[in-house]
Amino acid sequence: MKIIITGGAGFIGSHIVDAYINAGHTVAVIDDLSTGFRKNVNPKAKFYNVDIRDAAAVDRVLKKERPEAVNHHAAIAEVVKSLRDPMPTLQVNVLGTTNVLLAFGRHGKGKNRKFIFSSTGGAIYGEPKKIPADESADTVPLSPYGLSKLLGEEIIKFYARQYGFRYLIFRYPNVYGPRQNPKGEAGVVAIFGGIMKSGARPTIFGDGTKARDYTFVHDIVRANTIALRKGVNETVNLGWGKKVTDRMIFDAIAAALDYEGEPIFAPYRTGEVYQIAIKAAKAKKILGWQPKVPLADGIRMALETV
Ligand code: NAD
Repeated sequence: MKIIITGGAGFIGSHIVDAYINAGHTVAVIDDLSTGFRKNVNPKAKFYNVDIRDAAAVDRVLKKERPEAVNHHAAIAEVVKSLRDPMPTLQVNVLGTTNVLLAFGRHGKGKNRKFIFSSTGGAIYGEPKKIPADESADTVPLSPYGLSKLLGEEIIKFYARQYGFRYLIFRYPNVYGPRQNPKGEAGVVAIFGGIMKSGARPTIFGDGTKARDYTFVHDIVRANTIALRKGVNETVNLGWGKKVTDRMIFDAIAAALDYEGEPIFAPYRTGEVYQIAIKAAKAKKILGWQPKVPLADGIRMALETV
């Protein structure tokens, strides 16, 4: 299958590129290297250094490649940054996504052509009444980042109807693993791991009870591989459905690194969800997907590249 992966130089996207190439697919990557790295891109993939805000450039690539699937991971994926300065996040995640959809509508190939999207379960449900949240929970984003992903989902559904292509929307938990960029704000395993390795003390925002649903990147990649065959016009959560607090993640990383220091506690940051876990029963039912990699094993593998 011919597949374009946007954001394929980034953390999650680059692992998906590897998996698709290993499965025998032909892959082209679109990425502007704003947070991704050229060295992450599998040498067997074609690489286009293109900003998805550039409608004409995106159209040219899709016209040339005529993909049967687009797996869309390019985004500005930082909650706090989006609160400080919302426009870049909205431009890339909403208008950039629209550019990719329009180009795929015009140039995508085949009757079963499909658009796969990396939305967020962590930032789209706000503070859900029930944890773990399933797909029927209200969407109440607390940040422009969460809003941008919700808008992205709606625009995908609109253009899928307009052009008659298929879509599968994933709402991700907190994904962690090798190649995660410790300079961002989302990769707490990479950030804490890097700081502990340098002998300094990581900062926890809040009292350590803030919680996320941590899922290893290989599990997320497996869902994206299944997505090429299964799941038509669905929105599907991925995750363990389990809350892992900041204190628990700190202790797990410290244990893996034999680190004996204590965290610094700083005030909570506004716009960040307090606690979330994502129920993935639907993914099990329609995709046969369940996470497999336990937290301690995943942390060990993630820390190898920090
Ligand atoms: P990442 O920053 O490593 O990857 C994003 C990639 O998109 C980078 O390679 C970056 O260079 C590229 N990019 C950014 N703006 C671009 C633009 N204007 N044009 C072209 N390329 C651009 O982040 P990640 O953690 O790998 O996230 C990948 C996707 O998964 C994002 O869409 C993110 O919102 C989503 N997601 C991630 C998580 C997580 O826990 N990491 C959770 C939920 C959703």
